[in-house]
Amino acid sequence: MPRPILVTSALPNANGAPHFGHLVGAYLPADVYVRYQRLLGADVAFLCGTDEHGVAITMGAEQEGVSYQEYVDRWHRVWLQSCEDLRIEFDNFLQTSRRDPHYALSQEFFLRLLKNGHLQRREIRQLYSPGMKRFLADRYVVGTCYRCGYESARGDECPKCGSWLETTKLIDPKSRLDPSDKLELRDSWQYELDLAPFAEDPQIKPWLTALRGRLKVNVRKFVFDKMIEGEGLEARPITRDLPWGVPLPRTDLDGNNLGDVEGKVLYV
Ligand SMILES: [Zn+2]
Repeated sequence: MPRPILVTSALPNANGAPHFGHLVGAYLPADVYVRYQRLLGADVAFLCGTDEHGVAITMGAEQEGVSYQEYVDRWHRVWLQSCEDLRIEFDNFLQTSRRDPHYALSQEFFLRLLKNGHLQRREIRQLYSPGMKRFLADRYVVGTCYRCGYESARGDECPKCGSWLETTKLIDPKSRLDPSDKLELRDSWQYELDLAPFAEDPQIKPWLTALRGRLKVNVRKFVFDKMIEGEGLEARPITRDLPWGVPLPRTDLDGNNLGDVEGKVLYV
C-alpha cells in the first residue's frame, strides 16, 4: 500500500488576485512537495480552496455593489486560473461558501464544542447601523483606541498598541462604510469560546517555553503576555450577526432547539 499523504496550504481569501508572495510562500512549495512524494510512489491528496467568508469580503462586495456569491465566485475563478496557468495542480480547489462539505463540518465543530461545555451564550450590546438596518460586526467599525488613544483603531484590535478591543468601548465609533451613520447600541447575543481552560493544559506551557526562541517577536510577545506571564486568555465570540457566512445550526446534538439563530453565522 502506498503511503497516504494529505497536503494543504493556507486558504487564500477570495477578495483579490494572487501575488508573487502568495505563490512563493504557500502554493509553489506545496506543489513541489506533492510532485516529489508522487515520484516516490506516495498516494497524495492535494487540497486547497478559497476562504470566502469574513468582513473583508462582505465589505469588498458591498463597496462594488455586487452580491457576495458573485464576488467570491469571481475571485475563486481568478485564483483557480492563476494556479492552473502556473501548473500548480490541486486535486480539489474548494470554495468555503459552498455547502458541501464546508457547512456541515463547521457546524459539527461548533456543536461538539457546545456539547463539551466550551461555549457560552452571552447577552451583549452591539453597534447597530440604522442606515444599513443591521448590526455591524467589529471590523466594520473604526474609532479611537480606549487603551492608547490611537484614532484609527479597528473594532476588534488596535494596530498601534496591539490590544484586542471591545468594539462597544471604542471612543467615537464610526462605520467604515458610512462615517456619517449615527450608530446605536442595541441588544444581541453571541456564543463565546472559553479559551482560559485550554491555557491551563499541563502540556502547553512547557511546549511554548521550549519554542520561545523560534517564535517571531510579535507572536512571542502576544503568546507570552497572554498565556505565560500575563493576564490569561479571554473568552472570544465565535458567532456574529452578519448576512454572509455559515449559519448557526438550529438544534444541538441532542436535538434541543438553540433559539432564534436567524441572521447568526459562525466566525473564526
Ligand atoms: Zn491602542
